[in-house]
Amino acid sequence: AFSSAPITATLFPGDGIGPEIAESVKQIFREAEVPIEWEEHYVGTEIDPRTQSFLTWESLESVRRNRVGLKGPMATPIGKGHRSLNLTLRKELNLYANVRPCYSLPGYKTRYDDVNLVTIRENTEGEYSGLEHQVVRGVVESLKIITRQASLRVAEYAFHYAKAHGRERVSAIHKANIMQKTDGLFLKCCREVAEKYPEIKYEEVVIDNCCMMLVKNPALFDVLVMPNLYGDIISDLCAGLIGGLGLTPSCNIGEGGIALAEAVHGSAPDIAGKNLANPTALLLSGVSMLRHLELHDKADRIQKAVLETIAEGKYRTADLGGSSTTSDFTRAICDHL
Ligand code: NAD
Repeated sequence: AFSSAPITATLFPGDGIGPEIAESVKQIFREAEVPIEWEEHYVGTEIDPRTQSFLTWESLESVRRNRVGLKGPMATPIGKGHRSLNLTLRKELNLYANVRPCYSLPGYKTRYDDVNLVTIRENTEGEYSGLEHQVVRGVVESLKIITRQASLRVAEYAFHYAKAHGRERVSAIHKANIMQKTDGLFLKCCREVAEKYPEIKYEEVVIDNCCMMLVKNPALFDVLVMPNLYGDIISDLCAGLIGGLGLTPSCNIGEGGIALAEAVHGSAPDIAGKNLANPTALLLSGVSMLRHLELHDKADRIQKAVLETIAEGKYRTADLGGSSTTSDFTRAICDHL
């Protein structure tokens, strides 16, 4: 961060609205003179035998080399028989934790104005292990895998995150009353790690009750850690509390210090190619990438410009009730910079 040489980061514009919102990020980063050189990689149109997926070997190597990147949404056709690109990325790069901060945006009114929580999702196993098969006609089976190693790793990350960010409490979200073995092991690992962090309060909340509490009073929560599927669902619920998927960033943490930031949302096929998408989620993901690189000045500047633009209310995209295009909104942020 002290040298003037630019830092190389991988960029996956992704599918659907991905290229439009990635363009917006590039434009705003240029305007803010962020010292980053993007290495762009698109998802291939055929399977690369070296990765056994549509992701090219070069793109994975790029992330491994740069250790930092930004990723747009990638579409996964339902029932087409090949592994989801996101799953492949998570597995190949060992992206074991997905961190999703969710806070009320000053100036954008929703039902709540005091949301300030972080969901940390186990990213590599659970129901997303990709182990599904037909037992006999009319009966299919899906395996939920929970391992001690992956559970300890994500719990460790959650407590480390809480401590590093001055958070007070970690809540483990589970359904161990029914999934006694799998969620039971997950909880056991969280408890083990909690003992090493006596300064952080630790609690366990059953997922159904957690949903009710989140909707009733989201201020009850601080840092939440949970298995894969619960994290997927709860973080979308949290996005809804603060104004929707157009706003919420995330960052995937991988082994060996890899950080691959991405928006929580998908490729939004319903609005793709129409210059309607809200680039905020990907932008704030880019901001979290800058923080990871300790480029805090640039991160603060961009975050401030985004929040000011939204608060001002003159330029907002349709998901926030406005009528601005992606490019108008982007230009407004550049003006605020
Ligand atoms: P989605 O997130 O793409 O869209 C859900 C709704 O939110 C849509 O109405 C969409 O228009 C809206 N929306 C999402 N992002 C927005 C933005 N930035 N601005 C304005 N509106 C926005 O979810 P989906 O339709 O269930 O999934 C579409 C595809 O995306 C699927 O192929 C799915 O597998 C994939 N997906 C990828 C990721 C990822 O790459 N991390 C995550 C979720 C879904």
